[in-house]
Amino acid sequence: MNWEPWTGCYKVSEGCTNCYFYGPHAKRYGQNTITKTDKFDWPIRTKANGEYNIKGNKILSTCFATDFFLPEADEWRKDVWAMIKQRTDIDFLILTKRIDRFPVSLPADWGDGYENVNIGCTVENQELADYRLPLFLSYPIKRRFIGCAPLLEAIDLTPYLHGVDHVTVGGETGRDARQCDYDWVLDIRRQCVDANVTFWFKNTGSFFKHDGVVEKINPFKQSSRAKELDISILDGKRLF
Ligand code: SF4
Repeated sequence: MNWEPWTGCYKVSEGCTNCYFYGPHAKRYGQNTITKTDKFDWPIRTKANGEYNIKGNKILSTCFATDFFLPEADEWRKDVWAMIKQRTDIDFLILTKRIDRFPVSLPADWGDGYENVNIGCTVENQELADYRLPLFLSYPIKRRFIGCAPLLEAIDLTPYLHGVDHVTVGGETGRDARQCDYDWVLDIRRQCVDANVTFWFKNTGSFFKHDGVVEKINPFKQSSRAKELDISILDGKRLF
């Protein structure tokens, strides 16, 4: 289940190049003006009988179609933190390419972190892994994961895996998508096995290099192709 309290985004790093906010689909799916959505207060909306519209014991993927830590959302985020705090019966999953804005984006009572917040730091190449992950690990967060998406090259995550619960890997989607090499994926999987961290190969991307051959894969088949390879180690857990 997704919750988008605001919409819109703009490029911050290499992995954003072919984001759906740009290119041929931008008019239909994206825009780079940041605006609040009509679902802004969705987690705390109630029915006539006083029950929440969204029942508890759910995972709510938050800001997966924008970025939670955009500076344009600084004022709105204060209300969002309050809603997250109120709904302790929901796990909020937040994925970001702007983890360096984390310290200036926190509520006053954050302390060691809220129990129901799981933050995912996205890294698409080694340079960004080496910049973002030391910051990510230094911040007070109760539950963390790494999202290597879109995976653009081989990445050594070994210095950082001691501090995370999970790694998700995915290729890039789109007409101009960059290739995802299965060897890179397997290498990250091996690092996760060695560090005893769960691993999910989420999707292959549009151009998937496997056994020396580049497969062109329809967006609707990229998850099933990844699943077919049967390399995920989820231990009963699947984050999103
Ligand atoms: S941060 Fe995410 S949503 Fe924003 S432009 Fe980059 S890829 Fe797109």
